Amino acid sequence: MKKLTIIVPCYNEEEVLKLFYRETKRYTAELPDAETEFLFVDDGSSDGTLQILRSLAACDSSCHYITFSRNFGKEAAMYAGLQAADGDYCVLMDADLQHPPALLPRMYAALKDEGYDCCAGRRTTRDGEGAVRNFLSHCFYRVIRRLSRMDMQDGAGDFRMMTRRMVDSVLSCTEYNRYMKGIFSFVGFETKWIPFENTARAAGRSKWSLKSLFRYAVDGIFSFSTAPIALSGAVGVLLFILSLFLAFGTAVSTLIFGNEVNGWTTIVCLILFLNGMQMLFLSVLGEYVSKNYMESKGRPVYIIKDKG
Ligand code: UDP
Ligand code: MG
Repeated sequence: MKKLTIIVPCYNEEEVLKLFYRETKRYTAELPDAETEFLFVDDGSSDGTLQILRSLAACDSSCHYITFSRNFGKEAAMYAGLQAADGDYCVLMDADLQHPPALLPRMYAALKDEGYDCCAGRRTTRDGEGAVRNFLSHCFYRVIRRLSRMDMQDGAGDFRMMTRRMVDSVLSCTEYNRYMKGIFSFVGFETKWIPFENTARAAGRSKWSLKSLFRYAVDGIFSFSTAPIALSGAVGVLLFILSLFLAFGTAVSTLIFGNEVNGWTTIVCLILFLNGMQMLFLSVLGEYVSKNYMESKGRPVYIIKDKG
């Protein structure tokens, strides 16, 4: 018998919660040899979400909830859910039915019968979302994959079922600025991907504005990459080389061709040189800061999968 904890971050989801519960329950009833429990994390909702969660917990002893003192964001809600869950397997699901519960039996089988530590859904389409958001999402994944050297796939969200050892590894990353997609990739473990078509949320509105998505994207990049610091070094080198070319050109022009030295050229040359040096040393300083930044996250140096 395996215990499966379904962790559901909820922020103002009164319109969809009961539907989510009914739909998901239909599929968990099919799971062979499993005891399923729901763990809703109310992320400081201001609508009737908490009342609904209380009534679900009162009617169904397999429903539990945690409620936050204010809105802390989905990352915090997922972290709290994973910390509080005691299932052998844990699955993270959005409350709006955009993560189809119909995939739960396949995910469960992947972990239980096929030996995977993680089974995750991957959206093959982004129908139901705006064109601008689609385009920006694509760009973001391209950039973060290049900068962080982590395998973060486009369309791979937080919808995933994990074994206890993977959950414990995720929890061993205790950093405050959490970017879960990066952490999943960081901890490793073999993941089975199940493609699914994106659908519009069953009811209610997305909590993400373009501004909050942008902030989230920047958080993701800065949590897993120190490449932006290297950028200042690269610009510094470029300016330095430019100043050398200019100085060489001026020297040739005056010494060989006998032209007069142009005062402006000398000034531009000096500015380029000094700015280049400044940026170069800034990036050296940045390297130390970034090493310290990564240290401060206190991430595990390695994660053991098994022992003989
Ligand atoms: N959510 C949350 N806290 C927040 C924002 C969202 O717990 O501050 C939850 C929300 O209730 C839902 C999930 O995270 O269960 C995904 O949110 P949403 O559907 O708004 O995001 P989208 O699907 O548009 O990316
Ligand atoms: Mg959604």
